[in-house]
Amino acid sequence: MKFSLAPLLFAAVLATASARDKTLDIYWIDSEGGGSTLLVTPAGESILVDTGNPGGRDPQRIAKVAKDVAGLTRLDHVIISHFHIDHFGGLAELPALIPVGVLYDKGFPEGSPDGKPQDLPWSVNSKRYLGAQVGKRVVLAAGDTVPLRVPDGSPALQLRCLGANQRFIDPTPGQPQNPLNGTVPAKPVDSSDNANSIVLLLQFGDFRFFNGGDLSWNSEAKLVSSVNLVGLVDLYQVNHHGLEASNNPLLIRSLEPTVAVMNNGPTKGTGKSAMDALRSIPGIQIYQIHENIREDKENTSDPNLIANHGNLGDSCAAHYIQCTVAADAKHYTLKVPSTGHALTYVTRPRLNWGE
Ligand SMILES: [Zn+2]
Repeated sequence: MKFSLAPLLFAAVLATASARDKTLDIYWIDSEGGGSTLLVTPAGESILVDTGNPGGRDPQRIAKVAKDVAGLTRLDHVIISHFHIDHFGGLAELPALIPVGVLYDKGFPEGSPDGKPQDLPWSVNSKRYLGAQVGKRVVLAAGDTVPLRVPDGSPALQLRCLGANQRFIDPTPGQPQNPLNGTVPAKPVDSSDNANSIVLLLQFGDFRFFNGGDLSWNSEAKLVSSVNLVGLVDLYQVNHHGLEASNNPLLIRSLEPTVAVMNNGPTKGTGKSAMDALRSIPGIQIYQIHENIREDKENTSDPNLIANHGNLGDSCAAHYIQCTVAADAKHYTLKVPSTGHALTYVTRPRLNWGE
């Protein structure tokens, strides 16, 4: 009897060790101002949101991080936020580098996604997209979730589409009006496909990550007016690479992120109004995939939060940014391996509506 406790303790230590491994990991892969964000769930399932540009470079960078850093042998799910080349262009080349499972998009447009009668790049690249060797194709609409496995003992995990094609989820009955309503004027109508981007919210326990693709100003406003359909988030992927056509302060102040990660390029993104909107959140930490080398030099305050410096184009080392959310989802660590930066943040208590 006196030794009976030892195996129990041993079992408890083992359980803790394996739980610790069941992290949620997010990688922002450098596609030089394109979109390519890789998520790996506690069960080891992978979701790539956007596939960068065509032409070899970005698909190779994605496959490298997926295989060599995240240890994946396939991409279980790929989601295309909208039909601009820096988001869907790499898809057709990916299956030759790493197998692709289910492909999700917001519905293939019949003509140019930007409503242009003559849109040659679209017609060429759309054929490649439709011919891509993927497992299955699924259309996502507001309210849909991507089915994900959850290991025993892990917090709840949900990847939900909050909107697509400017149609958003219904508010929860009784949800209060957003007190920020009417504080920011609208911009002229955006007839590009940016306005139609799929909006994703990943929730892991209390941890919440927002990825809105290239959602633009008036669509961003619609998402949080008159009620805030997103709620507060821990981590905000900066919409549209940090361009000024997006990052409406109404959205950013409604989400109040603790951390923002921008998938910008050396001369793309980090727009002043976008940076100002982010900086209006007290204590926010802004990470950038690239240093902005334009004359305006709009950059985050600490160079260690920038993964790639200078402008090397295709010969850029393409360093990534990683977020690891602890197995219990109570805290998360942002890492910039190229600068040695690592900082852990506490997940904010859940103060949101809905499930
Ligand atoms: Zn884009």
